[in-house]
Amino acid sequence: MVILVCNDDGIRSDGIQALARAVAPLGEVYVVAPDREQSAAGHSLTLHRPLRVEEIAPRQIAIDGTPTDCVNLAVSGILPARPGLVVSGINKGANLGDDLTYSGTVSAAMEGTLLGIPSVAISLVGRTHFDFGPAAEFAARLVAKVLERGLPPDTLLNVNVPDRARCEMTGCRITRQGKRRFGEALVEKTDPRGKKYYWIGGDELGFVHAPGTDYAAILEGAVSITPIHLDLTHYPSFEAMERLGLDWP
Ligand code: MN
Repeated sequence: MVILVCNDDGIRSDGIQALARAVAPLGEVYVVAPDREQSAAGHSLTLHRPLRVEEIAPRQIAIDGTPTDCVNLAVSGILPARPGLVVSGINKGANLGDDLTYSGTVSAAMEGTLLGIPSVAISLVGRTHFDFGPAAEFAARLVAKVLERGLPPDTLLNVNVPDRARCEMTGCRITRQGKRRFGEALVEKTDPRGKKYYWIGGDELGFVHAPGTDYAAILEGAVSITPIHLDLTHYPSFEAMERLGLDWP
C-alpha cells in the first residue's frame, strides 16, 4: 500500500519528516512535497509554467510547486502505484476554523479527496516551539484506522493537535469548524524609498468561543478531528433562494 505524504511547509520541514517516519510501518511511504515553504498557498494549481521534480533522497521528491501540484503530480504520474491514502503535515501551526480555506496543508488533503483517495491533514498548534513527536504518534494511530475503515466519500479529516505532552492531552474529539474573529491584522509601513507597503496577519487573531468547535477542543487540550466535506453547497439556503423568485430570460 502506497502512502503519500505531503505538506505546505516544504520537504525539509521537521514536521513532514516526523510524519513520514511515524507512518512508515503502515505502508510504502512516498514524500512528495514543495521544495520550499508554501504556507497559505490555498488550493492553487500551477498552470502557467512547467514544474520541476527532484528526487532528493530515496522516495523523497521535491517539486517547485504548491501542495496541490504535489498531490496532483504524485497521483497522476510520479508514484509507482495509486496511493491508498494521502496524509498532509504535520503543519507548523494551527489550521482551525476559517483558516482552512487558506491552508496549503488542508488543500493537499482536499486534492487527495478530489482524486478519490482517503486523505487526512494534520497540524500542530503552536507559535514558536514545536515538538512533533506526540502529533506524529497520533497521526500514525489515525492513519492506521483510516487505512482499515476508509472515509465517507468526498470527506477529509482536518486534525489539529494541541502543543503539549501526550500525557497532558485530554483526549480526541470530533469537532465542527470554528469561526475566526477577523480584526485589524494589517501592518502598514514605509520602505527605505518612502513607498508604503503592507504586511497581512501581524497579530494573533482569536476565534469565536463556541462549544463543539475545533478551537474549543484545542483550548481544552484535546486533539480536534473535523470531518470536512467538499460539497460546499449550503442546502438549507435552497428555499430562501427559491423565494427570490428570479426569472430568466
Ligand atoms: Mn504551513
